[in-house]
Amino acid sequence: MTQKITVECPVCHHQFEVDLDDHQPVQTVYRNHDTTPETVKEYRFRCPEDGTYFIVPVTITED
Ligand SMILES: [Zn+2]
Repeated sequence: MTQKITVECPVCHHQFEVDLDDHQPVQTVYRNHDTTPETVKEYRFRCPEDGTYFIVPVTITED
């Protein structure tokens, strides 16, 4: 399954599309809210404009 999201560089605000299948999460956080458990995976991306590395938390919705 291809999972593409748009992320924004925090430095230059350049927006670009990434495919989560091409990246490994640096950290996975499991949260258990009152009714809905959710998984948050933190991915590290590199801005193609200025080379800035930044972390983006992505909430994974389980079916
Ligand atoms: Zn940038």
